[in-house]
This record gives sequence, structure tokens and C-alpha cells, in this order.
Amino acid sequence: MALVVHKYGGTSMGSVQRIQNVAQRVTKWVKAGHQVVIVPSAMSGDTNRLLGLAKEINPDAADMSPRELDMIAATGEQVSVGLLAIALQAIGTDAVSYTGWQVPVKTNNAFTKARIESIDDTRIKADLAQGRVVIVTGFQGVDADNNITTLGRGGSDTSAVAIAAAIGADECLIYTDVDGVYTTDPRVVETARRLNKVTFEEMLEMASLGSKILQIRSVEFAGKYRVKTRVLSSLTDPNIDINIEANSGTLITFEEDDTMEQAVISGIAFNRDEAKITLMQVPDHPGIAHKILGPISNANIDVDMIIQNQSNNGTTDFSFTVHRNEYKKAMEVLQNEVVDTINATQVIGDNQVCKVSAVGIGMRSHVGVASLMFETLSKSGVNIQMISTSEIKISVVIEDKYMELAVRELHKAFGLETQDQAI
Ligand code: ADP
Ligand code: ASP
Ligand code: MG
Repeated sequence: MALVVHKYGGTSMGSVQRIQNVAQRVTKWVKAGHQVVIVPSAMSGDTNRLLGLAKEINPDAADMSPRELDMIAATGEQVSVGLLAIALQAIGTDAVSYTGWQVPVKTNNAFTKARIESIDDTRIKADLAQGRVVIVTGFQGVDADNNITTLGRGGSDTSAVAIAAAIGADECLIYTDVDGVYTTDPRVVETARRLNKVTFEEMLEMASLGSKILQIRSVEFAGKYRVKTRVLSSLTDPNIDINIEANSGTLITFEEDDTMEQAVISGIAFNRDEAKITLMQVPDHPGIAHKILGPISNANIDVDMIIQNQSNNGTTDFSFTVHRNEYKKAMEVLQNEVVDTINATQVIGDNQVCKVSAVGIGMRSHVGVASLMFETLSKSGVNIQMISTSEIKISVVIEDKYMELAVRELHKAFGLETQDQAI
């Protein structure tokens, strides 16, 4: 008997029929003797619909109270846990549903992007001991003042892995609308290949660089608490052999082993949500980066890449990227609090950029990755605006109209369609 967490995303919960399929699949696991905790998302499109209603009242997201947005968005998951409990009960499987505050899943009070601080497993464990399937809403929690919070878009992944860690589950299975983690988004590159295994470090990079398959915080939890995590399809026949299902998809591993594919690059990630900001001719002396980025950080805006150019006549150009949603706010902060104090001549912004990255632990022991990446982009006529590297990734910022072309060409150039290695 194992204790497992199943997470089902929006598409997997997208209709009454799909919810009934989930109930059948889970019942198969229960009949095989396993204890199951389920963490579903809202039905597909529901979170967008709910937030869209608020937007109809106030089109400027920045003006809306994030507390109230969380109040609205969290209801999508409440509907889906109730429906799933009813679907399970209808086929004779004992089940009970809980919202985040009933468990409780305690978070900080950073509305719309709250972080989980603790999860009380008492109620979950008591129900499991009674032979029930326990269904807990994804995406939501409660802060110290009993306000409902949400964990940011895609946050049900994080709820699932955090609950798996809190209850000491043997495995967290993330059921979704693709059958695993691919070399790149299979919706963009048809020839993308599924990986049987991916290392935790690579998954962390891919998630942080924009692969929407898993929310980054879920991968961080998996790493911190060593949660065995697998990404697999919810769209297969719910009655397929449980042993086949349990070994399907992509396993996130914490050790490299001989059965890993020996690829230099494991995947190409991309992120359309980027915006680039440049301050022209800022004085090149100590403290300038702090004067620029201090107010940005005080405004709770995350900065991603930062580049400072070679000094010329005592001044330099300073560029950085932020999430596209925070672009307007960042420009305002610079105009109001920074430009005059540091005597920059101009602030230029561009929110039509994206980031494309090659990720692979093989980069540690191979040279030539950067050069193949730049050669490929140059042959495709794509201009590189910014570059950043770490031990296992290279990222470039490019004009967003070239994103799909760049991803396709890099995927081909690094031999990701086949097992062959380009370098
Ligand atoms: P869910 O609703 O189940 O959470 P998401 O839409 O959040 O599903 O994530 C699954 C989607 O992630 C896939 O449909 C796919 O388009 C996208 N995706 C992006 N990068 C990858 C990748 N490297 N491998 C697999 N899927 C990816
Ligand atoms: N329903 C939430 C969203 O759409 C959380 C999730 O699906 O993971 O972002
Ligand atoms: Mg998701």
C-alpha cells in the first residue's frame, strides 16, 4: 500500500465527463489498496473567467485589491473539489473535500502570489485512516488573519507537492494534458520528444525559464523535501493497467544515473512574459545599480536579467528585464523615483521581447553550447538583445515575433528531435 497525491489540472477537470474519468481512475488506485489525496485545479478556463469578471468592472489590474482578486479566483477550485467528491461518491468511493482554509494550508499574505508556510495534516490523515479519499483544493490557502490567498497562476502544482511533502506521501503524480515533460512545449514544436526522466536541477531551470508544465515553486518543494514527483497524462483510459500508468510519463530524479539520456541539452524553454527596460547614460560609479534596482525591489517587482555595458565617458547603459505584467509599474517607479536622482538621460522600454533558453546538465562538461546557440540564431536572422548564462543554461532575450522560429531551430540544432547529439 502506498500513500500518493494525485494532482489534476484544469483540462483534466475540464468537464463533467472528465471529472467522472478522474473519479474512475482514483477508484482504481483505491481498489489496488492505495491511500489517495487529490489536489485538483479549477475546471479549465474558470480562473480566467472569474478574473475576467473583475476586469469587466475595473480594467486596470494594478488598481484592483489583490485580496479581493484572491477571494474571487479561489472559488474555481472550491467548485471542482465538490464536484469530484460527488463523482467519487456516485461510484461508491468514500471521499471528502476541503478548501485550503479548512485544512488549513497556511500562507503568507502576499495576495495573488502567496507562499505556503505550513500545512496541518491532522484532518487529512484522520480521513485517510477512515478509508476516505481526501480532496484538497489546489492554488489556495489562508493567511494569519484568515484571509483567503492564492499561490499564483499554475499554483495547484505547488499545492500538490507541498501536501505530498506534509503528509509524507510516497509519490506525487501530476496528471495533465500531455503525457510528460518534453524537450520543449509540444504545442510549439511538433517533433518535441518526451523525456522518461529529467533531473531536478533541469526541471527547476525549465520551470523558472518559463516552461509552464510545472509551477517553479512546486519543483522547489520537490527538491527541498525530496518528493518523488512524476508528470503523466490524465487523458488515457482511466481503466488502464495501474502498473503501466504508475510507470508512465516523466519522473523527476534527484540523482543522475546510467539510465538517463546522456544529452548535453535536455530542453528548450521559452517565456513570452518578458519586458526589457534600459536606462541610458547613467553615471558609472559605485551605488548606481542599487539606486536603480532598490526602488524596483521596494515596489515588489521581480527583476530577472541585468546587464550593464562598458563605461564610455564615465556613463553606461543599464538594462534589465521584468515580467510583462509589471512593466508599466516598473516604468512608473523609474520615472518617479530614479531618473532624476541618478541623472539618466532617458528610459527606454520594450515589452515585445521574449526569452529563449537552452537547458542541460551536460553543459557542465561540454563546450560549444553557446557557440552553437548563437550560430543557429544568427543563421535564422534573429538578433540577440541580452544574454545570460548559468552552469546549466543559456538564455537570450530576442524580439518576440521570432520566438517560435528560434525555439524550432534551436530544438533541431541541438539534436533534440532524435537521440543524436549535435555537439
Ligand atoms: P495543467 O492544467 O494540467 O496544470 P498546464 O497547461 O499548466 O496544465 O501545463 C501543461 C502544458 O504545458 C502542456 O499542455 C504544454 O503545452 C505546456 N508545456 C510547456 N512546456 C512543456 C514541456 N517542456 N513539456 C510538456 N509540456 C509543456
Ligand atoms: N486554477 C489556477 C490557474 O488557472 C491554478 C492552477 O490551475 O494550477 O492558474
Ligand atoms: Mg498548470
